[in-house]
Amino acid sequence: MIYLDYQATTPLAPEARAAMLPWLAGPDAPGFANPHSPHRPGRAAAAAIEVAREQVAALLPPGGRVIFTGSATDALNLAIFGQTFGGRPFGQIAVSALEHAAVLDTAAASGARVHALVSDGAGLVGVDQPLPEGTGLVAVMQVNNEIGTIQPVGEWAARAHRAGALFLCDAVQGAGRIAPPEGADLIALSAHKLYGPKGIGALWLRDGLDLAPLIHGGGQEGGLRSGTLSPALCAGFGAAAALAHARMAADAAHVEGLWRYARALLGDRWTLNGSAEARWHGNLNLRREGLDVARLMSDLRDVAFSAGSACASGSGRPSHVLRAIGLTPAQAKASVRIGFGRYTTTEQMEDACARINVAAAAQGV
Ligand code: PLP
Repeated sequence: MIYLDYQATTPLAPEARAAMLPWLAGPDAPGFANPHSPHRPGRAAAAAIEVAREQVAALLPPGGRVIFTGSATDALNLAIFGQTFGGRPFGQIAVSALEHAAVLDTAAASGARVHALVSDGAGLVGVDQPLPEGTGLVAVMQVNNEIGTIQPVGEWAARAHRAGALFLCDAVQGAGRIAPPEGADLIALSAHKLYGPKGIGALWLRDGLDLAPLIHGGGQEGGLRSGTLSPALCAGFGAAAALAHARMAADAAHVEGLWRYARALLGDRWTLNGSAEARWHGNLNLRREGLDVARLMSDLRDVAFSAGSACASGSGRPSHVLRAIGLTPAQAKASVRIGFGRYTTTEQMEDACARINVAAAAQGV
């Protein structure tokens, strides 16, 4: 199996797995203790969580705190509903048209009027567009999950602040790969997109910003997200974040080499969706006129890639991101997403590209 779906999830780094194991211990070792218990094993687990919090915080800007959540979706819901639940509902929210459903659907459910910030044909949401009067929150993602485009989030943060709004950045696909977004008030992350475990995410909150919880109970995470934390998941997230921090340049260089190689191997029968420059190069979203992607995927069962966003796949609807950048439904449906990263080898890329080209050519397109 050649895994080329790094935007859906990344493999668990061996270092992250190793950091988790002591906290998954059975009855004969103290690692299973509740990190909120005051006894010694509980305090040891709590200390491991604080180390992990520091490691995750190192991927983020200074001047804020990290709240562990169950996923990035959970963090984004807390960011959007946290003000509303605190009695300060946003009357008007502006979100980029390229956001993940975790932002789009949460904004829609918030009761606020939602304004879509448009994308250009290159997949970039330019700051030179109007913000509706009374906008209280602006949300623009750092790196798009479908086409990999890198948004001008620092400029959007400044723009939001000038309009008196908060700025929320979904940094799920950028964290650990590129520098953190500048100027944001709220940033959401997910461990499983940066070689950590599934089931844990984080919300970064600028100091001084106050939210109300969605989940009530034991008051964990400063009262913002009740529920017993998993030391294993936190330790895995922390180790993955530390590794991503240390390897950021090396990982980017590796991805750059694979990007060049794959583009050369695939050739000019494929058209890139979205900007080639303002892009995370571990994302190759390509289209080929007339391609039957379902058939391509069934012909290549041992190459794991995606037809558009993994979150939307199976819905039968063309991707909202590909539509937002101006593709026709037919072009969107003829697009594939090839995602690669730290553990993808040159040989795997060579093999996969050759097979993809043979299978596409066999369709006569
Ligand atoms: N935001 C983006 C850009 C994503 O790619 C994803 C996952 O696909 C999410 C949010 C949701 O992350 P999680 O799986 O942690 O809920």
